[in-house]
Amino acid sequence: MVEVLKGVRTIEVAKADGLDTEVYILECEGGLILIDVGFTPTCKDNIKTELDSMGRDWKDIKLILITHAHGDHIDNLGEVKKLTGAEVMLGEGDIDSLKEQTGIDADMGLEDGDVIDACGGIEVIHVPGHSKGNLSFYLRRNKLIIAGDTIFGDRHRNLYAPPEKYCEDVELAAKGIEKLLNYDFNKLFLSHGKSLLRGAKKRVRDLVVECS
Ligand SMILES: [Zn+2]
Repeated sequence: MVEVLKGVRTIEVAKADGLDTEVYILECEGGLILIDVGFTPTCKDNIKTELDSMGRDWKDIKLILITHAHGDHIDNLGEVKKLTGAEVMLGEGDIDSLKEQTGIDADMGLEDGDVIDACGGIEVIHVPGHSKGNLSFYLRRNKLIIAGDTIFGDRHRNLYAPPEKYCEDVELAAKGIEKLLNYDFNKLFLSHGKSLLRGAKKRVRDLVVECS
């Protein structure tokens, strides 16, 4: 639970299947954006603790961005939506799956190339394969990609393609990583694994070569 970058907070919420899982809070001019919501009561408590430490409340969260509709990223959505009253956005391709699992109707579906007008511009990168509507987000101002599950990592800052057991189409998921190289970034945050705060593009390029 720490402000890793000015205005970007990473919150380690829990372990899923032995993997650390993180969610993110962005401090934007118009309010806070929460990226993913975690999946256990402890996850929710950790988000609340972070808000407390910022002197903020659930109601300060104006938008919930979901990277993809897998349980470890969305199971708390019903409660968090109620607490915040925030709009929920996720990839078009995962809208039905979100509804099935959480009963929540998304306020808006996101497509590749969409730009969310907050925090200096957040570009939506659609990387299908892990799930149909799987997204990463590019924060122009920070030269940062929040990859979600497009790339997996570990405690030692190694990077991996998403493991087959978690993917709808593992080959498509691995091939899609290359798409991140279209962006001018040097920092990379993952949902499962330690953040890279510099030199991230080269590391992703190496991973793409490894995957091809
Ligand atoms: Zn995940």
